[in-house]
Amino acid sequence: MPSFPAPVVSRLPAVGTTIFTVMSRMAQECGAINLSQGYPDFNAGDVLFERVAHWMRAGHNQYPPMAGVAVLREAIARKIETLYGTAYDVDSEITVTAGATQALFTAVAALVHPGDEVIVFEPVYDSYAPAIELQGGKVVRLRLAAPDYRPDWAAVAAAISPRTRMIMINSPHNPTATVWTADDMAQLAALTRDTGIVVVSDEVYEHIVFDGARHESCARHPELAARSLIVSSFGKTYHITGWKVGYVAAPRELMAEFRKVHQFNVFTVNTPVQYALADYMADPGRHLGLAAFYQAKRDFFRAALAASRFELLPSRGTYFQLARYAAISERPDTAFCEYLTREVGVAAIPVSAFFADGHDDRVVRFCFAKNEDTLARACERLQRV
Ligand code: PMP
Ligand code: GLN
Repeated sequence: MPSFPAPVVSRLPAVGTTIFTVMSRMAQECGAINLSQGYPDFNAGDVLFERVAHWMRAGHNQYPPMAGVAVLREAIARKIETLYGTAYDVDSEITVTAGATQALFTAVAALVHPGDEVIVFEPVYDSYAPAIELQGGKVVRLRLAAPDYRPDWAAVAAAISPRTRMIMINSPHNPTATVWTADDMAQLAALTRDTGIVVVSDEVYEHIVFDGARHESCARHPELAARSLIVSSFGKTYHITGWKVGYVAAPRELMAEFRKVHQFNVFTVNTPVQYALADYMADPGRHLGLAAFYQAKRDFFRAALAASRFELLPSRGTYFQLARYAAISERPDTAFCEYLTREVGVAAIPVSAFFADGHDDRVVRFCFAKNEDTLARACERLQRV
């Protein structure tokens, strides 16, 4: 193939390949147990696959409505109202998306104008900043400081300016496994009151909150619900990250703008899977049981590492566990993860990848969304480090 005959002027000059791809590839090359990229190594219930086949055979294989099939939007609205108390209009306030990543990107593309400021909290999920920058927005990064990774509300107050268009939040939080409290939400509501600031609330781990804590969805807080696009993902909830289906709930004025972009970047999301998910959602036990399911895995993983030299930080939600390795090595976290993958046979994510300046707390992230057998084999290796 001849090469492109002119310099390519990158729109994202500082961006390389995502850390998830890099670490999963390294894990595969080395035959390491992959606790890096966040995905389960187990399946959804068989009935979900049967429902997909059913709807395919029944002829639901053409374009669905742009916003998603009505029965799925109804099931989503019902779930949100039951759990969090806000009633979203099925026609104008819920849209099915190709996963949370597309939902987040589309929300930013629809609402951020060139020169607008968007506040994010670092360590930050890696797709947020590029989405903002591609719209000509300015990323304003606030630090969640180790080891607690709590938001500093005085710093948020100081960062808000007349140019602040949006604040992107994520609880339960990837990668720190922290969970925001009702007080955090009250602070956010107070700071945004009487402004036009839009909140994008990434709630993909909404059903994975531990130790009896409650997920503080923006949909639980009417003032915040009125200014928020809430994003979730069936990938996390039903162990189907590769299907890439999620949704957005937002007041109609925001959703109207969201859909203007959505219709031109994906138009819509595959039909039989949407019908099957609507069927699957009919049993709320499937999402309500997720917290206990993952809490057992968290406890198993932590117990198996208790005698190791890793210092385990609290994991209050998500399927991630942060670990400090100061007692093991002084290497930077990227070098330490490479060592873990190549020499120990367990892949993890260096948390510095979630900081624009590579800030390194010497902490790594493990994903415990794995069968106990996988976790046991990984911990046996990690204990020897
Ligand atoms: N946001 C966060 C915080 C995530 O962890 C992930 C994926 N792990 C996503 C968004 C993307 O979700 P999806 O796979 O549905 O695009
Ligand atoms: N969100 C997943 C994680 O944090 C990865 C998703 C991806 O690879 N883009 O590991």
